[in-house]
Amino acid sequence: MRIGHGFDAHRFAEGRPLMLGGAEVPYPRGLAGHSDGDALLHAIIDALLGAGALGDIGAMFPSSDDRWKDAPSLDLLARARTRVREAGYRIANVDATLIAQEPRIAPHVMEMRRRIAEVLQIDITDVSVKATTTDAMGFTGRSEGVAASAVVLLE
Ligand SMILES: [Zn+2]
Repeated sequence: MRIGHGFDAHRFAEGRPLMLGGAEVPYPRGLAGHSDGDALLHAIIDALLGAGALGDIGAMFPSSDDRWKDAPSLDLLARARTRVREAGYRIANVDATLIAQEPRIAPHVMEMRRRIAEVLQIDITDVSVKATTTDAMGFTGRSEGVAASAVVLLE
């Protein structure tokens, strides 16, 4: 068994849909980034790659590569899943935490879990998505952006 950890943060930007955990969340701003800026999925991708000691998201999907410009992060997650499988691992479970003052995440958690489980080809009961605030402190507390953290277990 191998454990992996991932962390990511993106700032809010005007004129983009807000993509979190592969779900479009209604909010006036989206997240800046070379891809769709889905910090939650990026944390999960880094945890997957980290568990296998397979590098990180920046090495696998460099921002210098136009293929990943505005790419749906669910597609990047699917590629990371394939990479981990090819290395001989099975994904046991995922636990992810989104850190955001707003918007409210709870109404979207089931959709995020469903989308992540579908792409990772594991059961929804093996995918946990949680959300917390930082009690109005720091960059997430000021709603300048969101952060996310994830752990993954591979077998
Ligand atoms: Zn990211």
